[in-house]
Amino acid sequence: MGRTSKDKRDVYYRLAKENGWRARSAFKLLQLDEEFQLFQGVTRAVDLCAAPGSWSQVLSQKIGGQGSGHVVAVDLQAMAPLPGVLQIQGDITQLSTAQEIIRHFEGCPADLVVCDGAPDVTGLHDVDEYMQAQLLLAALNIATHVLKPGGCFVAKIFRGRDVTLIYSQLRVFFSSVLCAKPRSSRNSSIEAFAVCRGYDPPEGFLPDLTKPLLDHSYDPDFNQLDGPTRIIVPFVACGDLSSYDSDRSYPLDLEDGSEYKYTPPTQPPISPPYQEACTLKKKGRLAKEIRPQDCPLSTVDTLPQ
Ligand code: SAM
Repeated sequence: MGRTSKDKRDVYYRLAKENGWRARSAFKLLQLDEEFQLFQGVTRAVDLCAAPGSWSQVLSQKIGGQGSGHVVAVDLQAMAPLPGVLQIQGDITQLSTAQEIIRHFEGCPADLVVCDGAPDVTGLHDVDEYMQAQLLLAALNIATHVLKPGGCFVAKIFRGRDVTLIYSQLRVFFSSVLCAKPRSSRNSSIEAFAVCRGYDPPEGFLPDLTKPLLDHSYDPDFNQLDGPTRIIVPFVACGDLSSYDSDRSYPLDLEDGSEYKYTPPTQPPISPPYQEACTLKKKGRLAKEIRPQDCPLSTVDTLPQ
């Protein structure tokens, strides 16, 4: 496959490069903002699970704050620097990372917390949905420590079987919760975004990192998910319907008449987890897959399944 093939198959990937965004995800946040005016009046924001950094790019360009630290970006992976963005490398499910983020906002809370976190998917849907939910809850936990009253929280969710439980949890803390699907997010993906506005924790709620969020004591009806008490949040498709469809392939010369010219990625990954494997492969030292037909009969039974 040539290097233009992905440009053809994924128009948002191509447009991201042409517009200087580090990832196609930038369009998801831009389309969410188009619908919900997320950035209005925002001067301080947290971008959780931020690498390679396209949401941080959008935030640092679109929100009103100034100086290093008006956007705090956190990820497991190292991220190339961005002007105005303070970076923390760490796991958002770890207490030490949460504490570092919270320290930064002490006395000066954030207006917006976003989380585009995705675990490495296994293909086992229940496991993937569970992992995704854990990331979201870790992000929500951090948000309850750093958000100002009325603040906004936007997080990726997988619309799986138990998503109602997550909506219920979010409704405890926000006056408005809805589920949004930007046009740049593929229809074929169960990904969507919970858009939670009006941070308004229950009276007497004291954020506590040691307290699991799925504590039902704030609302006794909270986990009654069947029948009329089941929480159903509005679903909003956002992004201009005449804009590009993320599930379609487009010819390289787009309809606006512009002639196609290949654009390299805006920011190649720095120290990606697969770097060592690439180096070993170049040197011909990457272990080859062991196939049963290559093994003497006596060892076949002991091969991993
Ligand atoms: N919003 C980003 C952008 O626009 O460039 C893309 C985010 S990418 C879809 C998901 C990110 O989640 C990955 O960079 C991954 O390292 C990060 N991630 C997954 N689990 C994490 C965790 N426990 N703590 C911090 N980051 C995590």
